[in-house]
Amino acid sequence: MDNCIFCKIINRQIPAAVVYEDDRVIAFNDINPVAPVHVIIIPKEHIASANDLTAGNSDILSDVFLAAQKIAEKTGIAAKGYRLINNCGADAGQTVFHMHFHLLGGVVLGPKII
Ligand code: AMP
Ligand code: ZN
Repeated sequence: MDNCIFCKIINRQIPAAVVYEDDRVIAFNDINPVAPVHVIIIPKEHIASANDLTAGNSDILSDVFLAAQKIAEKTGIAAKGYRLINNCGADAGQTVFHMHFHLLGGVVLGPKII
């Protein structure tokens, strides 16, 4: 997608601190972290939001969770725990419309979100 900031990161058109990459997903440090570990995990395929998942593309979710597990191990938060968040749509505050997951950890997180 031409005007998608996360597609530009995938294509190396804009820089990012990449912490994990495989054939289907890439992960990089959030530019505005809210926790000691705050990594954005995205599919390489442009899927705008969780509303755009289908039976044909939802296999990507297991890739995202397996990437999260590896990143959690690598950043030392696997044993202590972490949170994986997807914001879908306006009420959830989604600002980048390339589906992504926030991997948060390295601190005791608050109870849920709202
Ligand atoms: P969301 O509100 O779920 O759409 O979150 C979008 C996230 O992407 C925010 O936490 C931003 O800080 C992060 N973000 C936006 N642009 C970049 C970028 N160029 N590199 C890294 N993270 C970014
Ligand atoms: Zn995109």
